[in-house]
Amino acid sequence: MGYKPRPFDLAQGKPSRAAFLNKHTIIYSGCYNVGMLNITYEYKLEPTLEQEAVIEDWLEICRKVYNYALAERKDWARSRKSPIDACRLDREYIIPVDAKRPTFSGQCKSLAAAKKEIPELKRPHTHVLQQVLRILEAAFVAMWERGHGFPRFKKRMRSFVFPQLNKGVVQGSRVNLPKIGWVKMRLSRPVPEGFEAKQIRVVKRASGYYVMIVFQSDVEVPAVQPHGEPLGVDVGLESYLATSAGELVENPRFFANGQRKLKSLQRQLKRKKKGSNRWLKLQKKIARHHEYLANARKDFQFKLAHHLCDRAGMIFVEKLNLKGLAKGMLAKHCLDAAWGNYLSIQEWVCSKRGVYFGGVEASGTSQECPACAAVVKKDLSVRVHQCPECGYTTNRDVAAAQVVRNRGLAAVGHTVKKLKEGNADGHPTN
Ligand SMILES: [Zn+2]
Repeated sequence: MGYKPRPFDLAQGKPSRAAFLNKHTIIYSGCYNVGMLNITYEYKLEPTLEQEAVIEDWLEICRKVYNYALAERKDWARSRKSPIDACRLDREYIIPVDAKRPTFSGQCKSLAAAKKEIPELKRPHTHVLQQVLRILEAAFVAMWERGHGFPRFKKRMRSFVFPQLNKGVVQGSRVNLPKIGWVKMRLSRPVPEGFEAKQIRVVKRASGYYVMIVFQSDVEVPAVQPHGEPLGVDVGLESYLATSAGELVENPRFFANGQRKLKSLQRQLKRKKKGSNRWLKLQKKIARHHEYLANARKDFQFKLAHHLCDRAGMIFVEKLNLKGLAKGMLAKHCLDAAWGNYLSIQEWVCSKRGVYFGGVEASGTSQECPACAAVVKKDLSVRVHQCPECGYTTNRDVAAAQVVRNRGLAAVGHTVKKLKEGNADGHPTN
């Protein structure tokens, strides 16, 4: 039953997306640019004991480098906080006024210098360590520009990246990791044809070591044009999401059940002696459970994304301000449902299935009537949208999804036909 991606033939003109992407392709936000096609495949590694030791060693060195570089930036930030004459000697380091703010390139230079004195730093590949500094830089940029929190010290490093690779690093069921050598991997799906491996991330999970390989093809991929049936999607309050066609997708059971089990395991952990055999065993079990939950969630999100693509030619979602949401009362719900993650999966599946994907302004979607655009104020406890102006009545979340659809259609230039009074399925009438 295995799905075989069709070989890609340049001579046959423009390829369809589906021709060389198979069903379960995993993509992470930021990997996908129109014009250049990047896909990320994940394989389980089967390292020898020696290779495993090297990976562990590198992860630990990466962690130390990250924390050292973070401390350097933190000290600098602290020294700039208070005026020099009010500086508390016991709390703040005094760093010369003209000392420059640590930057990515600056820290790369100090890393190169530090290598001469600390032989440990010579063990991992140079690019791998530079990538650690780059991630730290990105964390600071996220703080400055998107209001994320101050980066924290890492208790453990879960992965490292080879940002550049030579040609032919993947051969058969082996991958050639720079400075580590050929490592066996489980070829759970064929390597895509016509693609070149560009980046590799080595990840440690509870169930073992994995590689996430970014394959790239420099084939021009046409952008999807708006067409077909429009579908608005909104985050549900009681359900996982609501669509403008009136569908309410329930929260899958494992969300609640899985959390309950996690809590029970964590309670058990508290009763065990820290560091004892049983404690270690239980902790491993918890890590496994976390991994299971993450996999189950991803699986659900992919199936849901395909399900919506079966029903629409264009999908519109709210451009979510995740930071704003996480602060408000919806925090738990939204983070639980990993909504942002779902959106990037939906976007990816849309691009693969040739479905147009668009974001719309999110403000006030729940306070607007989809039929007549009147403002209908309602707080979170009101479950039904009932318009006093035109009498249109439907589920609250469905109404919001219909507003999203209307805004999306307006943005791509289609006119919205008014809904017939009481037409709960939300399809525009002729
Ligand atoms: Zn109305």
